[in-house]
Amino acid sequence: MQAWNKISRMQAPAIKKMQDELIHKMVTEELAVRHPYYRDLFKNNNLNPAEIRGGDDLKKLPFTEKNDLLPRENDLRHPKKFVLEIPEGVEGKNKKRGFGLFKKKDTGPDPYDYKFHTLFFSAGRTAKPVPIEYTHYDLNNLQEAGIRAFDILELTRDDTIINAFTFAPNAYFWQMFYSTTGIGSTALQTGGGKVLGMEKILKAMDNMEAPVIAAAPGYALFALLTLDHFGFSAENLERLIIGIDYAPMAVVERMKKLMVSVGAKNQIVQRMYFVSEAKSGWAECAPGYGYHTNPDHVYIEIVDPVSGEVLGEGEKGEVVITLLDARGTVVLRFKTGDIATGGLVTEPCPNCKRTVPRIMGDIERKSMYYELQGKEGPVQFNANHLRSMMMSRDDVLLWYAEINSEKSADLLKVVFKGVSGEDEAALLKLLETELQSEFNLPVVVESSTLDAVSTQIGLEKFITEQVIFDTRSS
Ligand SMILES: [Zn+2]
Repeated sequence: MQAWNKISRMQAPAIKKMQDELIHKMVTEELAVRHPYYRDLFKNNNLNPAEIRGGDDLKKLPFTEKNDLLPRENDLRHPKKFVLEIPEGVEGKNKKRGFGLFKKKDTGPDPYDYKFHTLFFSAGRTAKPVPIEYTHYDLNNLQEAGIRAFDILELTRDDTIINAFTFAPNAYFWQMFYSTTGIGSTALQTGGGKVLGMEKILKAMDNMEAPVIAAAPGYALFALLTLDHFGFSAENLERLIIGIDYAPMAVVERMKKLMVSVGAKNQIVQRMYFVSEAKSGWAECAPGYGYHTNPDHVYIEIVDPVSGEVLGEGEKGEVVITLLDARGTVVLRFKTGDIATGGLVTEPCPNCKRTVPRIMGDIERKSMYYELQGKEGPVQFNANHLRSMMMSRDDVLLWYAEINSEKSADLLKVVFKGVSGEDEAALLKLLETELQSEFNLPVVVESSTLDAVSTQIGLEKFITEQVIFDTRSS
């Protein structure tokens, strides 16, 4: 691992060279030797690991998908196949600890780096959660990724931070935790709505005069919209760090406006993008400048989600990751199911001048592209778009949508609770017209109570709220 100040200023050809070397090393020295799944995959497909000399050669290898990692009905230990085995014969070797970064090459792999430490899970709102093993080596990298993200966000130890990411065994909460301990800032690890609840989180923000809150986008919006109701002030609030779930630019703009309206001292909104299987999350220096990735930790390809073809600079496509510096669970060419609308760019960031590859645009979830049955044939429905529309409206507090099967066609039902003071009957009519024309589908809109909607979406129950319910198959 090289120093961040060097990596973040490295020119593109040097980054490519470093990544090519790391890919070759990971494939030949780790995956081909002690990774049960890929070792078999290379063997069974007559693939020669030595031929994978860099990023361009990865095309020769198949993708790994979420399903490949899940426990099988007759083999609950299947996810173990993605975990690097502890190097043989050296397990009992008594080694001095604490000099991992400086160890000499001829000492061989350190078994301690491979020793299971903890298990995190992907968020798994709709899909099954994937278990991901971390070793101490991985936790060090998680903290390093967190400290780098804070550097990009320009957070320092002088910033008091309210960590309102949901407490759970996942990379989101723990990266934030390790970042704050890593830089030595004052921080309250609230555990999010699930643990502390909105009122106590807002009270803590007020009492600690904290300028920074980290939260999922839906929860951050809810906080801004209910501050007044709980009687707390936002006069110390300066910035929101948005993570766990995606926040389109339109939602960032709404957050900034809301920060003005609640009297926040400043209105900085910054986004982070976490991939559980990448064992870390990446930050934007400012909204729209892209998620600044760690080229020594993860190699990123953007591919056509259908054909799998690797796409060029800046082209919209699916994010595919290969871990370059991990122990425990390791994935190679893993299809994340996330679409980056602005693809990947390798030119230096025009805002902060860092040179690391950036994932651009809004993130969309592939699982939220639906093909629905319209009256005159199939209709493509992008629920990411619906989510962006609903979350960026000034008049909606909470909402969810159902996709229901009717006799002649599928029907989109949207249930909402308006922001207090809104004429809900008028809003209902307006939403119905707007959504119908936008999505070319039959739409019904209903208004409901705060309790009913927040319970349905699991606002303070899940890691982040669930807003799309496809009832057709149930
Ligand atoms: Zn930047």
